[in-house]
Amino acid sequence: MKPQTNEVTKNDFDAAVVDAVRAVVGPGEVALHEPQFAGREWEYVRDCLDTGWVSSVGTYVDRFESMLAEYTGAGHVVAVNNGTAALHTCLMLANVGAGDEVLIPALTFVATTNVVRYVDATPHFVDIDLRTMGVAAARLEAHLDETTSLQAGVRINRQTGRPIRALICVHAFGHPADVEGLLALAERFNLVLIEDAAESLGSLHKGRHTGTFGRLGTLSFNGNKIVTTGGGGAIITSDPGLAARAKHLTTTARSSTDSGFMHDQVGFNYRLPNINAALGCAQLEQLDGFVERKRKLAASYREAFADLSGVQFVGEPDGARSNYWLNAILLDPEHSDRRDALLERSNAAGIATRPAWTLMHELPMYRGCPRMDLRVAEDVRRRLINLPSSASLA
Ligand SMILES: *Cc1c(COP(=O)(O)O)cnc(C)c1O
Repeated sequence: MKPQTNEVTKNDFDAAVVDAVRAVVGPGEVALHEPQFAGREWEYVRDCLDTGWVSSVGTYVDRFESMLAEYTGAGHVVAVNNGTAALHTCLMLANVGAGDEVLIPALTFVATTNVVRYVDATPHFVDIDLRTMGVAAARLEAHLDETTSLQAGVRINRQTGRPIRALICVHAFGHPADVEGLLALAERFNLVLIEDAAESLGSLHKGRHTGTFGRLGTLSFNGNKIVTTGGGGAIITSDPGLAARAKHLTTTARSSTDSGFMHDQVGFNYRLPNINAALGCAQLEQLDGFVERKRKLAASYREAFADLSGVQFVGEPDGARSNYWLNAILLDPEHSDRRDALLERSNAAGIATRPAWTLMHELPMYRGCPRMDLRVAEDVRRRLINLPSSASLA
């Protein structure tokens, strides 16, 4: 039996998209994102093993923190054992607790939302902007104007009666969110702005590093991020008091004046081991090169998709310099039914691709949470495909 004409067209479209990706990434099996260890990783890790300083004592953690402070321009950096721990600590530093609500974009990795529950607060999901893939400031402002009111200096969700204390914005796929708009909104509504910059190390908004606009920012050095420590994260802030509290809280709240085991509050064992920091130092030495190559790879994708109708490459927003952590394409709405076929076809061909995360309000544990109209996030979830993005591909 001959295939239907529109089947042929759909097949042609799928083939053209996968061919375009293949032309950029070259032959063979291609991962979504692989770390690269081409610097002094062996030397620094060997140094930890040779000296025995692999764990909570050693010089690499301080060095890693200073390198990050210099690179990001953040006044203070506290290294921790993963990005999730960094976010959890930020919510505690922002005094978010039981009965509070925290605004979270519906399109993010689940860790951003989980930490809200760690402090017994409730996530309140907000929509994103197609240009930035981050929180849509103007639409969120309208939502807060309509559904909240100010009572004794606190912003109250009129429907739930709960205070809204903070906004965590995410620089999704490495692209800077509208941080200026969000900062103004946070000020207007009395919210603490926390930037989840897990994916955006190396990304700038108007020349300034992401994560340094809000009161607190977080980074991740998981194996799939632009720079890895195996597992790791960091809290960044310009506030020395917050940085000191962050260090204290993440190192079992041990009293610095006491030589014995004096702990003055319930602390956490969230410190980054020295051996992981050693790996991180070697990786940071190569960060400029990683960003350069990832931007070059993005330019190749942009060119490869420029003449292909039915699909758009997701580029950096105006005023931003993105690290292009994870490249993405958006299928035109009339081709959104091709997403799953394209994922299947590319993965079968050895090219790792994946859809955007399942939206937070669609996960079983977060289904009942408060939210605004999430039409853009829902649209992006239907149409977006992430492409192989290792720096080594450029
Ligand atoms: C990776 C990531 C995290 C969590 O970082 P871990 O180091 O894996 O705990 C948080 N938020 C976003 C947006 C991420 O991509």
